[in-house]
Amino acid sequence: MNARAPKGTADMLPDVARAWEHMQRTAQLLFARYGYEPIYTPTFEHPEVFTRGIGEATDIVSKEMYTFEDKGGRSVTLRPEGTASVVRAALEHNLVANGQSAKLYYAGPMFRYERPQKGRMRQFWQIGAEAIGMAEPGIDAEVIVMLMRYFEELGIPRSNMRLLINTMGDQACRPAYREKVAAFIRDHSSVLCEECNRRAETNPLRAFDCKNPGCRDVMSAAPLLRDELCDDCAAHYAAVKVHLDDLAIPYVEDPSLVRGLDYYTRTVFEVQVDAGLGSQNAIGGGGRYDRLMEEYDGPPTPGLGFALGFERTLLALEAAGVAVLGHPTAEVYVARVDASLGEAVFAIVQELRDVGIPTETDYQARSLKSQFKQADRLGAHAVVVVGPDELAAGEVTIRNMATKDESRVPLGEIAERLKQLLG
Ligand code: AMP
Repeated sequence: MNARAPKGTADMLPDVARAWEHMQRTAQLLFARYGYEPIYTPTFEHPEVFTRGIGEATDIVSKEMYTFEDKGGRSVTLRPEGTASVVRAALEHNLVANGQSAKLYYAGPMFRYERPQKGRMRQFWQIGAEAIGMAEPGIDAEVIVMLMRYFEELGIPRSNMRLLINTMGDQACRPAYREKVAAFIRDHSSVLCEECNRRAETNPLRAFDCKNPGCRDVMSAAPLLRDELCDDCAAHYAAVKVHLDDLAIPYVEDPSLVRGLDYYTRTVFEVQVDAGLGSQNAIGGGGRYDRLMEEYDGPPTPGLGFALGFERTLLALEAAGVAVLGHPTAEVYVARVDASLGEAVFAIVQELRDVGIPTETDYQARSLKSQFKQADRLGAHAVVVVGPDELAAGEVTIRNMATKDESRVPLGEIAERLKQLLG
């Protein structure tokens, strides 16, 4: 059999898994301060949750979804992102019925059939937050601030990050604008790539996202939505910027930021970091999706949110020199002079763990020397040595691994003495 993980996936070994847990804990603590509660939705959904929500013509839906038939002949899709599921769940369980609102966050794996490269995986891990039921521009700014604070709290310096913002308009102004961009693409069809020409018919705004330098050049002269916004969208966008200014959050307006999902309306944003990331430099992003719930035949319900990627955030942290891969293992190691002392050792280990001290011991009948080596490897600050003579006297020896001091300690005082030693 092939013992390698599938292409585009990665095992999270302990160092990386610890970083993932650290990122989730940081999110839990920070997001709770902003009033967010956890939600877990299924890893797979009916395909329509994504085809309707994200849009048939998007790259995600048209090229990247893992959709297959289960044994009952039902078509299911591994979720490519979290927002659609959270909004589907909010509708299903009436979380925002009768003018209520909900602030929800999630963390977990997402799946997209993409061409793997640095920072781009087929199974990747996201943390996201959604504020559903709120239309005021203040909440747009709050969501953006929470995302920026999150990255800062992890240790990415603000100076390493670039916040891009834009507005996508709404159903009042975007359709006419789409047509203008489509017409622009048709007028320039001979100098745009095949894909961009196709986009004129399916999803013209995505032409702004084309990676082809020639297309970027041409598209830089295309009409901009900010010149075509309806009054309501213009006022909303202006208010979001005032809030960001008030909160002293620096941002760059990028009229070509269109983001790859159909459900966005009005505010969209992205956080980029150059150091350590290469071409996949967006560590997080999101936007408003005021029409998404209607796609699921629910009532008109405003909402917005963001998602951030674990793998890219980790690359950004490494580039910023933040040591999130620390080494928390045993604080205390209990060694035995000979294997016959197992029972006494087991009792001491259990007692120490019960009082909250991370404790490890030997399960492989190692020599005393290799037990000390293992204690070193684990980073133990103290080693409790259990020997037959000491034990007969009702004592053990405790060695302080930093100072090399050793002292004899009565069996009943081990935990107390170790707590002192560990500070
Ligand atoms: P999106 O859902 O496309 O807005 O992505 C939100 C964030 O998820 C991005 O900023 C990335 O950090 C991360 N992300 C998206 N796609 C991938 C991928 N294929 N591999 C790794 N991270 C990803």
